[in-house]
Amino acid sequence: MNVSFVDLGAQYRDIKVAVDQAISSVIRDTAFIGGKYVREFERLFGELYGVKHVISCANGTDSLYIIMKMLGIGQGDEVITVANSWISSSETITQTGARPVFVDIDPVYYSIDENKIREKVSVRTKAIIAVHLQGQMCQIDHIRKICDEHGIHLIEDCAQSHFSSLNGVRAGVTGIAGSFSFYPGKNLGAYGDAGCIITNDDELAKSCRRFANHGSLSKHKHEVEGINSRMDALQASILSAKCAYIQDWTAKRIENAYLYTKKLKEVSDVVVPAVRPGSVHSFHLYVIRANRRDELMEYLKERGVETAIHYPRALPNLDAYAYLGHTREDFPVASAYEAKILSLPMYPELTESQVDHVVECIRSFYA
Ligand SMILES: *Cc1c(COP(=O)(O)O)cnc(C)c1O
Repeated sequence: MNVSFVDLGAQYRDIKVAVDQAISSVIRDTAFIGGKYVREFERLFGELYGVKHVISCANGTDSLYIIMKMLGIGQGDEVITVANSWISSSETITQTGARPVFVDIDPVYYSIDENKIREKVSVRTKAIIAVHLQGQMCQIDHIRKICDEHGIHLIEDCAQSHFSSLNGVRAGVTGIAGSFSFYPGKNLGAYGDAGCIITNDDELAKSCRRFANHGSLSKHKHEVEGINSRMDALQASILSAKCAYIQDWTAKRIENAYLYTKKLKEVSDVVVPAVRPGSVHSFHLYVIRANRRDELMEYLKERGVETAIHYPRALPNLDAYAYLGHTREDFPVASAYEAKILSLPMYPELTESQVDHVVECIRSFYA
């Protein structure tokens, strides 16, 4: 039996009629950039999140960059983020001219260790990017309190946490703005690059929308310079079609995670992901910690089970950040987990027999 890491083909087969129709409508109307299909997706997503503004853009990296840039973050500033994430969470800080300041991860939940944030706040700190990694929210209320105490912005990177919540509050609505990616493999994925910003702040919404479209809110009126970061209508129409299914897909991910956790419980060489009390973990990733991880990964591969590592190097340990002069001891948890973490196949269409196969292979490896 083969179990791929993700299976976007299975999802497409389930919703082929809706997706094909969405694509042909855009082509029929030759409405490729902006226009009604993009507005319609912004309206739908805003409704799902109960927010005033959704600003679509080209991808979930630009969305982070645009938020920070429009908050006036730049040269001489510092922005705090987490040591284990996709590089977008830190490279966008550098893009603004500011300096990324990393905080180690929590040993249980993998997200930023909220007890280690205060020691990293300085007079130059302008914002914290809270990354809701793997589909589980970090302790957003606690982080919000730190931000309020110091008068700094809270930005939420929700690229992996569509429809995740903590104590009934969704990812992306506690800070000044939330940033989403619709990269194909994300829980809500386009068929190319796409992203968006959500916010209830009218001023920020206006400036982000203007900046993402060459500094222009109406044709040939450029109040400022900006960039070209627009969502194309093909992506928007596909995303709109998918909005009808996203709650159901999230529920299926949660069911599959539950099955994995139940079946892996007695495997003592494996630590299953912990769910915070009050947390709806949307399981973008199902990450275990495993003894002899590399050997296990190879063993699974030989048996048709595709796994991945998110991420093989903690951000401060990447060559790109050598200039910051960190050592692995500065981020002991994130550094130690580099050799342990393993992401198992996870998607809504995963069947129970596939889960069983993965678990059986893991059991037989350690037996
Ligand atoms: C995917 C991802 C991004 C960036 O999204 P793109 O759309 O690929 O640019 C940002 N942050 C995190 C945590 C991500 O997983």
